[in-house]
Amino acid sequence: MPKLSVVVPCYNEEAALPLFYREITRVADEMAEVDFEFVFIDDGSKDGTLAELRRLAAADKRVRYVSFSRNFGKEAGMLAGLEAATGDFVALMDADLQHPPALLPALYRAVTEEGYDCAATRRVTREGEPPVRSFFARLFYKLINRISDTDIVDGACDYRLMRRAVVDAILSMHEYNRFSKGIFGWVGFRTKWVPFVNVERVAGETKWSFWKLFCYSLEGIVAFSTVPLALASVLGVIVCLAAFVFVMVVLIKTLIFGDPVDGWPSMMCGILFLGGVQLLCIGILGQYLAKTYLETKHRPVYLVRETEDGVK
Ligand code: UDP
Ligand code: MG
Repeated sequence: MPKLSVVVPCYNEEAALPLFYREITRVADEMAEVDFEFVFIDDGSKDGTLAELRRLAAADKRVRYVSFSRNFGKEAGMLAGLEAATGDFVALMDADLQHPPALLPALYRAVTEEGYDCAATRRVTREGEPPVRSFFARLFYKLINRISDTDIVDGACDYRLMRRAVVDAILSMHEYNRFSKGIFGWVGFRTKWVPFVNVERVAGETKWSFWKLFCYSLEGIVAFSTVPLALASVLGVIVCLAAFVFVMVVLIKTLIFGDPVDGWPSMMCGILFLGGVQLLCIGILGQYLAKTYLETKHRPVYLVRETEDGVK
């Protein structure tokens, strides 16, 4: 029988987990032709998530779990899950039932029968989201798709099902700063996009604040585009041209009208503007340097404290 691993990163999901488990086992029973494995990642939860996972693993031998030594973030959780998964097919989904397990049979069919390598979901509406957040999300996708060669699909969710080959391709990317939406796009393969309507999470709270999302989007840009690095050169050329025109104007004005001592405001404008542009460009350089610095350290993306086989 083909084996399907379901990878679920969990951070403080003690309330959602029992509901999720009930729903996913119901779907698993429906898909009798598939062998299931559930890989839960406890991302350093501070509530009873780990206890809940121990309980589930003791009761159901399809349940496996990996518990981190601290919170490493969802990206680390997904990586750990993909590394731990042993299935011929691997599905990634959230624990809060925002990614409906009921879609799983359709995703599985797309990969096994319709000739796709992976089936991914995308939200069709941003309903129920604050308008400011939607606005910036749209802006981000427009920007990153313009400045990056990698196709990053607007509204794409991390809820997806992949063939082993795709999983291995993703695992072959050893970067420390992981931006999954970009990684999924970068590896390519034939992807079927399955639209679905966004639902509210069943229990608990979202872990993403606006600020966290903003930082995450910057991470995505730095990870999948080097266009901002060219900004300094482009601005440099523009400013040089402007300076040349300005020098001409000053020269001609002086020759024709003499040289009255004024021009303090225009001088201040020039100094402030150029100061700002220079700081901006140094800042962008700094961003890339910081990421490069972290990559060169080769730190592990996550540390495991406990698995279903016991404490390490
Ligand atoms: N998550 C995680 N580590 C974190 C934050 C979140 O493993 O540091 C998990 C979380 O438990 C959930 C999924 O990632 O299963 C998505 O998180 P959330 O629902 O908070 O995000 P949203 O759906 O609001 O984008
Ligand atoms: Mg959620």
